[in-house]
Amino acid sequence: MINLTNQGELSELLSRHGIILSKGLGQNFLINPSVCPRMAEEAIPGEGWGVLEIGPGAGVLTQQLCLRAEKVVAVELDSRLPPVLAESLAGFENFELISSDALKMDLEGVIREKFQGLSVAVCANLPYYITSPLIMKVLSELPGVKKAVFMVQLEAAQRICAPEGSRESGAITVAVRYYSNPELLFRVSRGSFLPPPNVDSAVISLTRRETPPVSDEALFFRIVRGGFSQRRKTLLNSLSSALGVGKDRLLPVLEEAGLSPQIRPEAMKLEDFLRLTEVAALRLGKI
Ligand code: SAM
Repeated sequence: MINLTNQGELSELLSRHGIILSKGLGQNFLINPSVCPRMAEEAIPGEGWGVLEIGPGAGVLTQQLCLRAEKVVAVELDSRLPPVLAESLAGFENFELISSDALKMDLEGVIREKFQGLSVAVCANLPYYITSPLIMKVLSELPGVKKAVFMVQLEAAQRICAPEGSRESGAITVAVRYYSNPELLFRVSRGSFLPPPNVDSAVISLTRRETPPVSDEALFFRIVRGGFSQRRKTLLNSLSSALGVGKDRLLPVLEEAGLSPQIRPEAMKLEDFLRLTEVAALRLGKI
């Protein structure tokens, strides 16, 4: 097996295929040998798992996933990489590559078709520019995924896993918590990548849970996004402009939901947003 955490072997493989890593595609490849085995172990807790990987790059994480999972399907956007992956994953019969954009393709169809009878996890060292949309796509559109283990920028990891009602929380914190139990597993220094990015990273795990009941899910997400749309403002001000509802109509709704008119969205817990959604649906009608 090619040792992709050996900088010399990785550089030789890439240059033999004429590949210069692309900043635009977020191509910072992992070269720290301890990281990928840990990620794979977290994503695959036992036997009978299939793993969907986003952005395999040269295959350093993919190799570790293939050693542990029944089946690994990886989606890679860069059309220069399939010949590289054919070399680095030679001999793994449980590996399949799809050349496509993970954000634009039907991932649910892939899961249905490729992982029948298996528990499904998603694992990725995510390109930073698709972090939030990809996480939300996995959580909201792929209910069959039980677990996700992602490497993301440290700041994103801290926001996603922020304690409820803390200063670090944002719309993504509440949205992720609606679908899953998030956990920041470990930090990874910038020196663990080739080339090193400007910031440190961290590995997070999202374990799917049953979504809490809410009568109007679309309204819930409008309220979460709208609430956080102007971070320094109060919930009342942000929501009023985001929903296009006058403060005079919104104030009694907040009061009925037990929320102070001065409250800021970062001080709110998931249950506060859910309660507010129910009262808003009842009192504001179609908005
Ligand atoms: N998994 C490898 C590793 O850990 O070294 C590579 C990780 S690198 C941070 C991100 C990878 O995602 C790159 O290979 C990049 O080409 C790929 N990528 C970027 N955007 C993508 C997209 N929209 N869909 C699928 N893959 C994408």
